[in-house]
Amino acid sequence: MYFVATPIGSARDITLRALDVLASADVIAAEDTRSMRRLLEIHGVALGDRPLLSYHDHSGARTREKLLGFLSAGKAVAYASEAGTPLIADPGYHLSKEAAEAGHLVTSAPGPSAIITALTLAGLPTDAFFFGGFLPNAKGARRTSLEALRDVPGTLVFYESPRRVAEMLKDAARVMGDDRQAAVCRELTKKFEEVRRGTLSDLASELDGVNVKGEIVVLIDRAAPREISDEDLTEALTEALKSMSVRDAADG
Ligand code: SAM
Repeated sequence: MYFVATPIGSARDITLRALDVLASADVIAAEDTRSMRRLLEIHGVALGDRPLLSYHDHSGARTREKLLGFLSAGKAVAYASEAGTPLIADPGYHLSKEAAEAGHLVTSAPGPSAIITALTLAGLPTDAFFFGGFLPNAKGARRTSLEALRDVPGTLVFYESPRRVAEMLKDAARVMGDDRQAAVCRELTKKFEEVRRGTLSDLASELDGVNVKGEIVVLIDRAAPREISDEDLTEALTEALKSMSVRDAADG
């Protein structure tokens, strides 16, 4: 079972190995069969009389069973989502899990993903990051999610719709502070690729009322380490020593 990454914009961002896998698999399954046909055509890969099946995790167990059946019969199945890496905010999880549970070889032809592309361009630390997928659409739920992530010690990465990005940045500024550094990456690898960097409040004002178009990744820097004043430190140490002497006294 091969999970194959496909381009997130520029059609030539596909690996030679991904093309080999697509050329040699016995069965191809795709989230969107039209995009797959187009991709095969662009790269001169003939489908021939091989089956091309539409599959996404919600298309139900029936197609999944069919694909697992091909694997049991010793066929090589290649699966690609519409763009980027399958399973990353895209279908494939149930297929991968069930294929592995059934004892089939599960492997990948890796390649582009908007998360990694955005991290390489945003100018924010990459030593640790947290991918938050798409935040909830409803304002209250979105703020609650952002609150839960406020102190994560790594860069936060979100996929966001162009219609909601300004609102999302406003909410993030409110929850995480106006001055947190952030980046909005739009249309990565495409003609109108753009990376805006700035504080959450500056980016929120820049995009407020703008008819944003295209695909978007939002990145937010981790919280600055809390500054501890000398007074706070002395107070914390005094409290700690006090509790130790109370414990010593109790121990006799
Ligand atoms: N599987 C894909 C991947 O590996 O990145 C992600 C699929 S998800 C359904 C689609 C979302 O990914 C878009 O709404 C956008 O947030 C982000 N995305 C995909 N391609 C992008 C691009 N070229 N530029 C910016 N964001 C992109």
